[in-house]
Amino acid sequence: MTIQGCLEILRQVKDAAFATVDEHGAPQVRIIDVMLAEEGALYFCTARGKDFYRQLTASGRVAVTALNQDWQMVRFAGQARKLPQPKEWIDRIFAANPSMNDVYPGESRYILEPFCLDNGQLEFFDLGKSPIVRESFALGEAPAAKGFAITGGCVGCGLCAAGCPQQCIRPGSPYEIVQEHCLHCGLCQETCPAGAVVRRDGQK
Ligand code: SF4
Ligand code: SF4
Repeated sequence: MTIQGCLEILRQVKDAAFATVDEHGAPQVRIIDVMLAEEGALYFCTARGKDFYRQLTASGRVAVTALNQDWQMVRFAGQARKLPQPKEWIDRIFAANPSMNDVYPGESRYILEPFCLDNGQLEFFDLGKSPIVRESFALGEAPAAKGFAITGGCVGCGLCAAGCPQQCIRPGSPYEIVQEHCLHCGLCQETCPAGAVVRRDGQK
C-alpha cells in the first residue's frame, strides 16, 4: 500500500466519516464526500452555515475514515486547511463530482468552502486478509508509534505467541511482534508474566 493508494480508497468509497470536536469538546461525526484525492492530499468542502465548517475553522483537526467492499479500512487524521481561491476550487470539485449540481444548483455552490487535508497520520488496515495487514504513513509530521513492542525483559516463555489472535509474535531473544499483522489488541501485554511488553508510544 502507498499513501496515494490510501487516498484513492477514500475517494473510491467517497462517502467517508469525518470527525471533529465541537466547542464543548464533544466528538462529532458525519458523512462527507471525498471530492478529490491527488498528490498526497484529500479535498472536500462544506457550507459556511454548517457546524462542521465552524469546527474546521476553529481547530482544523479532523479524522476521516472509510471501509471499502474488500474490508480495507483507511484512517487519516490531521489538520485541515481552508483553500485560497475558493471559487476555483469549488468549480473544480463540481466538475469532478457533477451530482453536486443537484444539491447546490447555480451560484448557490459558492456557499461552499473547499478544504484540503494533506498532513497528519494515515493508516491502512486490511481486515480481508489473514493475518490482518496494517501500514502507517506520516504526511508532514513524524509517524505515531502505535501498538506494542517486546523489550529485553522477555524471558522467552512463549505465552504471548501462543495467545496472540493473529499469530504475529515470532520466537527470539527477545520475542518479536510482526507489526504489520498486529491488531494492537493488547492481549500479549496482559499475558506477559515478565512485564516485557510495552506500548510503543511510551504510555501505560
Ligand atoms: S510472554 Fe513475555 S516473557 Fe514470555 S515470550 Fe512473550 S514477551 Fe517474552
Ligand atoms: S497486540 Fe494483540 S495482535 Fe498484536 S501482537 Fe499482541 S496479542 Fe498479537
